[in-house]
Amino acid sequence: MISEGRCTRSKKEEIEEVSVDAEGRKESSGSGGSPEDVVSKGNREGTGEEKSSLEEKRSLRRIALPLPGHEVSRASPQYKRMLEKLNDEVELYKLHVKHYHMSPAQFRRRTSMLGLPGEIYDKYDKIFRTCRVCSTSVPTPPRARVAGLRASSFRDLIFVDHEEIKFGSKAYLALVIIDGATNLLWATALTSLEAPETLNAFRQWTEDNNCVPKGIVGDQAFFTDQFMSYYKFHGITP
Ligand SMILES: [Zn+2]
Repeated sequence: MISEGRCTRSKKEEIEEVSVDAEGRKESSGSGGSPEDVVSKGNREGTGEEKSSLEEKRSLRRIALPLPGHEVSRASPQYKRMLEKLNDEVELYKLHVKHYHMSPAQFRRRTSMLGLPGEIYDKYDKIFRTCRVCSTSVPTPPRARVAGLRASSFRDLIFVDHEEIKFGSKAYLALVIIDGATNLLWATALTSLEAPETLNAFRQWTEDNNCVPKGIVGDQAFFTDQFMSYYKFHGITP
């Protein structure tokens, strides 16, 4: 949360700001460009007319989706302002991020009562497709069945892999373990690809999750003799 000394800020900064926290929203009740502001109109009485122009400007820059069940009059200037903003791809992207990379389906659900023009949805779809975060974290395909092995409950089957994570000029090694039934992701940092270190990480997984996996799927790096004897000892099906 940003606590801002607004007196020291320039107008430009205010314009650039995408402040979305709950407090901010309360503050913005002075002059609304968003449906939430329409919704919160009731709280306006008592806030007085002494709102600074900076605050007004800030609230004008914000788009927020109305809460489900709240109707917004389409003739209202607030609605028109919201439409204008939703037509702006940058604003739409900010909204996308603000709502934790909301999917197009969620966006449609959240805005279904607004009667938005189709072009806004087309733009949103495009933003979602081109969002770097969303395109690198596509939902995992169902892994209920792999090579005849079934993963219907936790620990039935785990997927293991070594990953190299580049950060700046450095690269870090990590072991990633995904449970086949629940997609629970577990990861730990490694200093090497040596089998004993990875096996220690497996032990850590077992300790953290209070159970030994039944089956394990990974590339050939996980099926050397050292790994095989670990699996045999713990009754794990490679
Ligand atoms: Zn995204």
